[in-house]
Amino acid sequence: MKSGSQVYCLLVNHLFSMLCDTWSSTSQYLPHRRLNSYTRLPSPSTISPLLIPFPTDSDNMLPPAFLLLCRSRPKPTLNLLPPKSVHVYKPYFRSFSTTPFRLLKTTDMTDNQFAAVKIDRERLWRDLHTTCEWGKGERWGPEETDVGMARLTLSDADKQARDWFVETTKSLGCEVTIDAMGNIFAIRPGKKNGPPTFAGSHFDTQPTGGRYDGILGVHAGIEALKTMNDNKIETEYPTGVINWTNEEGARFPISMVSSGVWAGAFPLEQAYNLVELGGGKATQKSELERIGYIGPTEASYKVNPIGAHFELHIEQGPILENSGGKIGAVEGVQAYKWFTITVKGRDCHTGTTDFKNRSDAMLTAAKLILHSHNKASELDCLASTGILNLKPGSTNTVPGFVQFSLDIRCKEDATLARLEKALKKDFFKIANGEETGGLNALGTKGRGCTVQWHLDTDSPATKFHDDCINCVEASAADMLGDEPNSGTLVQRMTSGAGHDSVYTSRRVPTSMIFVPCRDGVSHNPEEYCSPEDCGNGAQVLLGAILRYDRLRAEKVAA
Ligand SMILES: [Zn+2]
Repeated sequence: MKSGSQVYCLLVNHLFSMLCDTWSSTSQYLPHRRLNSYTRLPSPSTISPLLIPFPTDSDNMLPPAFLLLCRSRPKPTLNLLPPKSVHVYKPYFRSFSTTPFRLLKTTDMTDNQFAAVKIDRERLWRDLHTTCEWGKGERWGPEETDVGMARLTLSDADKQARDWFVETTKSLGCEVTIDAMGNIFAIRPGKKNGPPTFAGSHFDTQPTGGRYDGILGVHAGIEALKTMNDNKIETEYPTGVINWTNEEGARFPISMVSSGVWAGAFPLEQAYNLVELGGGKATQKSELERIGYIGPTEASYKVNPIGAHFELHIEQGPILENSGGKIGAVEGVQAYKWFTITVKGRDCHTGTTDFKNRSDAMLTAAKLILHSHNKASELDCLASTGILNLKPGSTNTVPGFVQFSLDIRCKEDATLARLEKALKKDFFKIANGEETGGLNALGTKGRGCTVQWHLDTDSPATKFHDDCINCVEASAADMLGDEPNSGTLVQRMTSGAGHDSVYTSRRVPTSMIFVPCRDGVSHNPEEYCSPEDCGNGAQVLLGAILRYDRLRAEKVAA
């Protein structure tokens, strides 16, 4: 060892003995697993320094760096140094101070104190793009993160993201439960036992998806837990994060299927037996087994109950962006029904059959689709056709058979029922050549067609829980409070798309937080949510969880 290094070692040894003195003179504890039970640090005698000197170029120079490792006999139950993949976790370092732990209880916190607890926006952004290294999709721009996602559920990339989730949340002191659908529940203990208040969303994406749909919600939940640890916040009830399996339904074709099984909306066997799209033979069960995420806990709200569910999500629509809104406090999800409509007429020659003698299924279908749009506009609803097939498919034959999909959506169940009833009546009339909404006013009346309706999906409107919506709104108002026009920055909204929160809301208080995404685009590699909006959403999520925890305690006390 060179002389510079020797001097340095002396200094370090001195420092270390001072450290051990401080250590033994104070009673130091670290929170471990349960925040209200503590594990004592190993005594100083079981720790010995290990110096690794780095060579220097000159005898006169001190070494540029050294490593100080703590080694213990027997192995301490605590991981004194944070694992590599985890960011610096401040409570570990509190063990070197001489003041006892002060835990901040949500029940003692004021609204101002809730607002003062800030998430680490840079850490959130960094973590999010770290896990997006697994399952990268199409590049669309020059920036490092201008790359879409193709992380289909239960793929190898999904397993890597899941492994990161488990490792990270465990290192934060969470207990991790995996259920039979591979849903992962990471739980940070509270003062009392009870069903945890969760932030949940999904790590899986569409085949040509982006980096924010679902992924942001999971990361914001983890960031909330990290912030609670950083600020030594003690919640009344456990809190946690959920990564729901196969929200997208892109590989195994039922959306939100695993939160659905948890909520009792689908039998487990139906979910297990789903076969992957694209000609493969894998089932949802075989893939869960293959990647090792078929957990021992039953996927059920009865066996594995949760206390409340908050979900941060990109809006996936343009409303916030167009109106200058920053946060959507989501009140519910609109009702929708999917139908297959079959129009039957008669094939005939296009050159020899005059209009009066035609049963033109395609012409009729065109009128029906246009009418669904007009009627839905009238009732402030939506109507869309995404699939259309016709037979025989020849230029000089009038088609006698057309089948198309009809997706209708309204905020309220009653409005949806009104729209459906009106369309059923009008479709019949239009197909028979009767004048309806101007569609048969012009042209030549033909022989008419028949119309059949088949219901494929019925999803009633979802109403989220007032307590949860109020917590989101209060948290958002706190964050944006000092900005002008805050009334437009925080908006109450209805979600146009389904989310895992639809199923959790059937069983427990739930609500969602929306943040704007560029041009309202999602399910597209170019999907983008700015660092500011990601951070805003996570901040509101944290505030909502803390507020809800306080509210739970107040309700029990009342
Ligand atoms: Zn999503």
